[in-house]
Order: sequence, then C-alpha cells, then structure tokens
Amino acid sequence: MICPVCESARTYLWENIKYQNYNLFIRKCVSCSSLFQFPEIKDANSLYQQKYYEGDADYSYYDERKSHAASKIVYLSRLKNIHKFINKGFFLDVGCSFGGFAYTASDYYQSFGIDVSNFSIKEGTVWLKSLDPKNNFKGIYKGSLINLPKINAFKKNHFDIITMIEVAEHLKNPLANFKSAYDLLNKNGLLIIQTANFDAWQAINAGKNYHYFLPGHLVYFSAKALEKALKKIGFRKFIQYTPVDFSLNAKLRKSGRNFTGFFRYLKWLSIVYYHLKSYLRKKERPLTSSFVLYAFK
Ligand SMILES: [Zn+2]
Repeated sequence: MICPVCESARTYLWENIKYQNYNLFIRKCVSCSSLFQFPEIKDANSLYQQKYYEGDADYSYYDERKSHAASKIVYLSRLKNIHKFINKGFFLDVGCSFGGFAYTASDYYQSFGIDVSNFSIKEGTVWLKSLDPKNNFKGIYKGSLINLPKINAFKKNHFDIITMIEVAEHLKNPLANFKSAYDLLNKNGLLIIQTANFDAWQAINAGKNYHYFLPGHLVYFSAKALEKALKKIGFRKFIQYTPVDFSLNAKLRKSGRNFTGFFRYLKWLSIVYYHLKSYLRKKERPLTSSFVLYAFK
C-alpha cells in the first residue's frame, strides 16, 4: 500500500487498534514514518452526520454553537498571528463545520468556509444568520478542496489564506487536497495546517494508546514528512509552531469559560504544563505532538 504522505511503497501493518465498535488497521511508512488507515473503516463518509456535530455520536466533534464566545477567544488570537503575515484579502476555512472561525475571520478578511457535511452547512448557515451581520463574511458552502463549490470565488490564485484546522488527518488523499489549496492560493499566499505530529515523543511513547487514533482519522503525519510533501507541491517557506499558533493566555481564557472552581485550576495547570513542554525537544524531536504548520506559496 502506498503512503498517502510521501508516496513510498515501503509500508507495513503497524497495529490493529480497537476503538469502540471500530477496528482500525494502521499502517506505517518506513520511508517517512507517517501512519495511515488501510483499509479504511467501511463507513468513513457517513461519520459526519448530525450526531457527530452535536457531540452525541460514539465519536464526535464538540458543538461550537454552544461555546462560540469561548471559541472566539482562540479564533481571534490565531487571527492576530495570521494578520502579522497577511493583513487583508480572501480567506477560506476548509472543514469549517458550523462556520464560527470563518465568520470571525471576516473581521479582517473577505471570508468563506467549506465543509463536506450537508448537516453542518445547513445548520451553520441558519446559526450564523442569528449572529451580527458582517459585510466581509461571504458564507459557508458544501464542498471540499477536491470538490469545490461552483461559485465564482473558488478559482485559481484567488485566496490569500487557507486554513485546515484538524482537517488534514481526515483526508483520504491529502496530497490532492494540498495541491488544490496551492492552486487556489495567490502568490505568497498562506496555507495553515493544524494536526498531530506522529514523529514527536508524545505520540511515540503512547504508541497504539495515543488518543488521536480515531475512526475518522485516516492519516497520521510526521511533521517533517508533511513539510516535505508541501515543498514538493511548490510551497517554499515554512514556519512550525509547537504546540499552536495562538497564545497560552487565549487557551486559558477559553478553558476558563468551560470549567469552574477547583477543577478549573487543575485544568489550567495541565494546559500550562503541556504548553511549556511543547517548546522542549529531546534528540531533535519535540516532546509533544500538537503542532501547526504555516506554508507559504
Ligand atoms: Zn511515507
């Protein structure tokens, strides 16, 4: 089986992981150390229904509509960082879910969102209409990078920023998606990918027990291999953030809204510990697996 990250044929069955009712077959690439599901779970496309988005499925997303005020703190902190590199233009959030991040980005950019889920686009459109209208917010649409919405804005060299936050690991064919992002981007445009780095100690030490092994996660990247793949497509400059491209302060303020009393402080301590640990490296590998990659065209 060919590695979806570096296209090497040198892959082997690494682990068979049980997750609730799912049986995940995880292969490892000898050439780049990325991991991937093969064969993928049967119903990979049917995962993204109502229950997934409302947090009721066996395996699900949190419902951002219920926590928009808290999520917005992190969105704004991230946008502040992006703004340092590109301060105006067209913005696209891929895998936008209900569209909270795309909507917030319209404070700075002409902003769009796309998602493969009928449910999240339909519900998100209704939800966003209930918030304050913003001129620069251009809406959320059903589609993906390899199945673009048939609207005028989705053409070559048109976008300045494309974000894929916890999306790349869900893609069956990440390289085709990254290539499409490259084509959509303007000269000097910026692609932002947040996923887990499986070449970091957190993932290596946890092995098959690492919490990132989930039915909808089809690819588990090595950060180095991801950067190399993007370079091959044509991206020319990279910045890697560990753990994330937004501030520790924003992370704490977001979590402060969700936790109360003593447990909030425990949660805060664990967040601070993880964040600080993320700056450390051992034998050239980061200690923690959370990372965000900025790739410039
Ligand atoms: Zn590989």
